[in-house]
Amino acid sequence: MVRYVVVGGGIAGVTCVETLSSLCPEEEVLLITASPLIKAITNYKKITKTLEDFDVEERPSISLQSECVNVKVVQKSVDSLNARSHVIKLSDGEEIHYQKLCLCTGGRPKLILDCSPYILGIRDTESVQEFQKRLSTARRIMVLGNGGIATELVYEIEGCEVIWAIKDKSISSTFVDPGAGEFFMAEINKKKEARGEKPSKRLKYTVQDVRTQSTKDSPLGGALGPDWSADLSMTGTQEISHCVTVEKCVEVRRVYTKEEFQESGKWSTDLMGNVDQDCWPIYIELTNDKVYGCDFLVSATGVIPNTSPFLPGNQFSLAEDGGICVDDKMRTSEEDVYAAGDVCTVSWEPAQHWLQMRLWSQARQMGAYSAQCMVADIKGQSISLDFCFEVFAHVTKFFGYKVILLGKFNAQGLGRDYEILLRVTKGSEYVKVVLRNGRMEGAILIGETDLEETFENLILNKTDLTPFKDHLLDPDIDIEDFFD
Ligand code: FAD
Repeated sequence: MVRYVVVGGGIAGVTCVETLSSLCPEEEVLLITASPLIKAITNYKKITKTLEDFDVEERPSISLQSECVNVKVVQKSVDSLNARSHVIKLSDGEEIHYQKLCLCTGGRPKLILDCSPYILGIRDTESVQEFQKRLSTARRIMVLGNGGIATELVYEIEGCEVIWAIKDKSISSTFVDPGAGEFFMAEINKKKEARGEKPSKRLKYTVQDVRTQSTKDSPLGGALGPDWSADLSMTGTQEISHCVTVEKCVEVRRVYTKEEFQESGKWSTDLMGNVDQDCWPIYIELTNDKVYGCDFLVSATGVIPNTSPFLPGNQFSLAEDGGICVDDKMRTSEEDVYAAGDVCTVSWEPAQHWLQMRLWSQARQMGAYSAQCMVADIKGQSISLDFCFEVFAHVTKFFGYKVILLGKFNAQGLGRDYEILLRVTKGSEYVKVVLRNGRMEGAILIGETDLEETFENLILNKTDLTPFKDHLLDPDIDIEDFFD
């Protein structure tokens, strides 16, 4: 019987194992992961109390064993779980008995069609390499989805026409409001030289040369980490820089193969709206009746939690999004089984200013906290919810701008009961504050605003801002001094 078993070598699983190893150096910790490379966090730094920044490195899974002597890594996939008997079964039939188990198996891209070779998802290094290869011979592609992956792709792709199909009224709406979407729209077709980018100093992802899985149903490698797109060549065959056409408020109605399209009697349009005479491998009909021919489509519409090996024969509560429900101690509904990262969905009553999003910062935080919870349970100690779940905080980069999201940055769950303060300098910064009853509920900070620490404190302290409201975003007032 192994005391602690963790499944998954992504950010959540590796952080969980490292935390277990440091909390109980005398206990055996087993990491089982399908991927030959694990994700290790490096250069971790706290920007504010809740905002964190780090790099992610891909390392051979075995490297974890040399850093944490009580950790053993097994590179296999888990095929099934018998939670009542506390046993997992590996792909080669080996059975492992555990005392505490943590599932950190991440998610897989949600594809609009699973069986078309012209529809790609992006998750791990190998899927990115496949994408790059296909793009290098492409003249036109469609990107479907409005989250972080779609936003980064659209920003990076050159030499290829891109149709960005989104179901919302504004771009990047998973993260930012329509105002910020408009702010970014100005950047969308700017030439690379005009963007004044600095090269990224972070890691370049390598493709796993030891590939053990090849079918669509088998586990993927871990999801990519920060700056995954920055150093990659994403260039098509055309002599053009960025050429993005955004189709708003649409979904995909139907995907046609070349043959199906020829038989359909329909016609497709080019980017100018003229009848397209070219021949394409696939044709995509949108709900606004437009049909575009493309070389391929990238489906970037979120992830489906990787739960399938664990469900048969067990009684896990699942959330609507398919994630395994966890309580405020990261426990699933099966005894001694915990879950962390993209595979889980929190089912505790979240703090006023926190929400779950499938992000690497939350994968790290959940991985560490689930380890603390498992250890506390074994030792019979009580543990309270980690401070990182008090305020949602995320830092990222969109269209070359630093983007910081705090609290209920999009007024999530506030109904109509809030007001917005806004400060925009085109091409430089976008600051939005969400206020309810005079208190700050959340904020979006785009550009080098330097406001994150003060705003985080105002949210955490629930400061009544009614008397200062009119001056809060006044660029001539140093609000840091104001609230000292
Ligand atoms: P994963 O990293 O998916 O790891 C899952 C692990 O489980 C893998 O090692 C896999 O091999 C293993 N596994 C799966 N099934 C089994 C099995 N049956 N047996 C054994 N092992 C198994 N987040 C941000 O915060 N900001 C961003 O800008 C951002 N951009 C992203 C861009 C891309 C292209 C992608 C794909 C994701 C992005 N994310 C971003 C999301 C972020 O990467 C994830 O939320 C995070 O990495 C999830 O970590 P995880 O450990 O839960 O899962």
